[in-house]
Amino acid sequence: MKTIDLRSDTVTQPTKAMRDVMYTAEVGDDVYGEDPTVNRLESISADLLGTQEALFTSSGTQANLLALMTHCERGDEYIAGQQAHTFKYEGGGAAVLGSIQPQPLEFEEDGSLDLNIVAKAIKADDIHFARTRLLCLENTQSGKPLSMDYLKDAANFTTQHQLKLHLDGARLFNAAVKLDVNAHEIASHFDSVSVCLSKGLGAPVGSVLCGNKDQIKEARRWRKVLGGGMRQAGMLAAAGIFALENNVQRLADDHENAVLLASSLAEISELSVDHSSVQSNMVFVSLRQENDQLPIFLKNRGIIIPSGSSLRLVTHLNINAVDIGSVVSGFKDFFKKTK
Ligand SMILES: *Cc1c(COP(=O)(O)O)cnc(C)c1O
Repeated sequence: MKTIDLRSDTVTQPTKAMRDVMYTAEVGDDVYGEDPTVNRLESISADLLGTQEALFTSSGTQANLLALMTHCERGDEYIAGQQAHTFKYEGGGAAVLGSIQPQPLEFEEDGSLDLNIVAKAIKADDIHFARTRLLCLENTQSGKPLSMDYLKDAANFTTQHQLKLHLDGARLFNAAVKLDVNAHEIASHFDSVSVCLSKGLGAPVGSVLCGNKDQIKEARRWRKVLGGGMRQAGMLAAAGIFALENNVQRLADDHENAVLLASSLAEISELSVDHSSVQSNMVFVSLRQENDQLPIFLKNRGIIIPSGSSLRLVTHLNINAVDIGSVVSGFKDFFKKTK
């Protein structure tokens, strides 16, 4: 029985073709800068995002932490969303390891941060306050791509206020495919961008941090300090290269499958689907009445969903349109049975 895991796009399994390029990857000691495959991944990533350089990192969390630690120093502050990964889901790393204070603000409905509200959160030059240095955005944010106009406004805003601008672009390629723009058009507005290779792109491990030469040099130093110097990492980088070369355009399939899933689940009266949030590979569904038997029932059919009454369902490269059909039948059969 096939497993259909809708919890996240991080669950994707490397395909045979991806494993083959990993197996045959040319490697060297990356701490000496001598792993040709890591070097190639970093140069491909920088080219794709239009930055001077890029750094291969063990995770998106590490890439974001390096961005924060290179833009901010001890006693500085970054502004991010209350629900942002960089604030809420990274173990407080910026504070723990960088002595950097977060200033969280509520995200707007469209995943942006209202720049008028951001302006009010910027601290004056006063010894009472931390020094506000950086604005962090997220794209996609809960599956929503930020508009290109907003990115331009945010870039102008941060220039005007002498802040740096970092993008947590864990799913930047989902945004690019959805908006039908090149990744570098999105990245061009930012001082640095992190991108996950291990989500919808399907690599088993890794992210890249893209930025200018000085920043990446500094990030490489902090990565080492954080225990992230990797040796023959080309085997992992090979998967990342494969992902960037083969799995970007197909993200459109995940977006189509999300629409299909949303419209099919909307036919079930026990569920309420938030249609406006279906903009890339995520579907948000709530159960009119919480039922802890639903995940168990579905699991017996190989379908894995989160528990609770608010469900985030994520499509990815191990889920096709036929699987969406099986998921919808699973939900329908469960509610028929419980009637
Ligand atoms: C997944 C994710 C990350 C990075 O997560 P890792 O598991 O550390 O690779 C960063 N930001 C967002 C928005 C994410 O969804």
